[in-house]
Amino acid sequence: AAGAGLVVVANRLPVSLEEDGTDGGRRRWRRSPGGLVNALEPFLRTQRGAWVGWPGTAKAGGTPARAWRHDGLLLYPVALTADEVDGFYEGFSNATLWPLYHDVIMPPRYRRSWWDAYVHVNRKFAQATADISARGATVWVQDYQLQLVPAMLRELRPDLRIGFFLHIPFPPVELFMQVPWRTELIQGLLGADLIGFHRPGGARNFQWLARRLAGVREERAVSDVGDEPGLLGVAESPAGRRTVKVGAFPISIDAADLDRLARRADVQRRAEQIRAQLGNPRKIVLGVDRLDYTKGIDIRLRALHELLAEGRVTAETTTMVQIATPSRERVEHYLRMREDIERTVGRINGEFGRVGHPAVHYLHTSVGREELAALYRAADVMLVTPLRDGMNLVAKEYVACRHDLQGALVLSEFAGAAAELTSAFQVNPYHLEEVKSGLEKALTISRAEAGRRMGALRAQVLTHDVGHWAQSFLSTLEDRTPVGEPVR
Ligand code: UDP
Repeated sequence: AAGAGLVVVANRLPVSLEEDGTDGGRRRWRRSPGGLVNALEPFLRTQRGAWVGWPGTAKAGGTPARAWRHDGLLLYPVALTADEVDGFYEGFSNATLWPLYHDVIMPPRYRRSWWDAYVHVNRKFAQATADISARGATVWVQDYQLQLVPAMLRELRPDLRIGFFLHIPFPPVELFMQVPWRTELIQGLLGADLIGFHRPGGARNFQWLARRLAGVREERAVSDVGDEPGLLGVAESPAGRRTVKVGAFPISIDAADLDRLARRADVQRRAEQIRAQLGNPRKIVLGVDRLDYTKGIDIRLRALHELLAEGRVTAETTTMVQIATPSRERVEHYLRMREDIERTVGRINGEFGRVGHPAVHYLHTSVGREELAALYRAADVMLVTPLRDGMNLVAKEYVACRHDLQGALVLSEFAGAAAELTSAFQVNPYHLEEVKSGLEKALTISRAEAGRRMGALRAQVLTHDVGHWAQSFLSTLEDRTPVGEPVR
């Protein structure tokens, strides 16, 4: 039958519907920026690929009900009702799984109606994928919103090759065991042939749970995956006595593309303009995050506040810029956190700002790629202090933009990126004195030391880009040679 040979399944489609201001509200599709789309597009094109996802609007109007072609990709929309978005997306995905998988920084909420919506919507995604996939196709399911899709899809279409990748951390087993539906989640994932995590630790946690909760009998470390010593385990799932591989595949960015962008004359000019607009301070400190409680924005503000109060940093010489991108504004925790952060910014500026010279420039907005590249170029110190983060692409993007070998990165050891970015100033974000001294060191580093560190960081980021990530996942998924002993 017709159908796509490679299918990506993700919560969102790679395009979103935008109002076209020109003509009284005409709408058009716009490609979402993002590494995932860029990385997967070439593969999808060559293999008559398709993308299954939610168009991102609860309104049915304007959303095609069936698949359509866009830029050479076959897009297959999964329409969601407002209730489904509430329960599946804002509820179970973002108020249960997100905090649970990020070390319960906020208490996860376990609600039966959210779980029911999650099951229901995962089934919709599985059905849509079954409809669009060619016989024997490879399907790559993305992220925590869709953990039940692999098993549901396998039941509908046993002929498919199914991969799953988790873009957020996989939690310690003691935390995962809280979930009332823990067995269902593990069994959902075990429908895949390959389950990928950012870190070997996540893969190991998963294997422990698969043994404990799903009766997976055997597990052997048989090979290395990716470039870190990965973990490729063999698991026997009760359903079909299949081999399930588990591995670590740290995601990355399109580093060469960003490097080119940062070298452009207009971006350089914009970086100089930003410095001038900030009053040419000696040092610019930058933070760029979605406004999320996992990102530790409050921690870095507190660190700066104390350094200013102790006179170790002065507002005359140092200015901070924090870009905080609006995110999940309908989830309660996010509203409270936003108020908290904005109060802290107000307090710092009240105490240390002068007319025309705030100590912290706080922007609650989203900025485009070029402006972001210019900001990275302008920043002497990039502050990345999440309490927990699957990877943190911002840290890698900053490095990719510093072909001048200047600038310094302060990086939380609890970001996935810390495993690769070992020449950053790594800090424990729970240890405020350590964050303060990390920032202080980064502000006072010599040019030679900055060059040495940035050179090492760039060597890692430029050779491990997102294409490398996608390729290594897909080739492991499609490698049909048996792993280890055959499972009987
Ligand atoms: N980003 C952006 N505009 C902004 C802020 C962020 O385009 O105003 C992009 C940023 O370049 C990065 C992504 O959003 O590619 C954030 O990814 P990251 O892994 O750092 O965090 P996440 O938001 O996925 O938790």
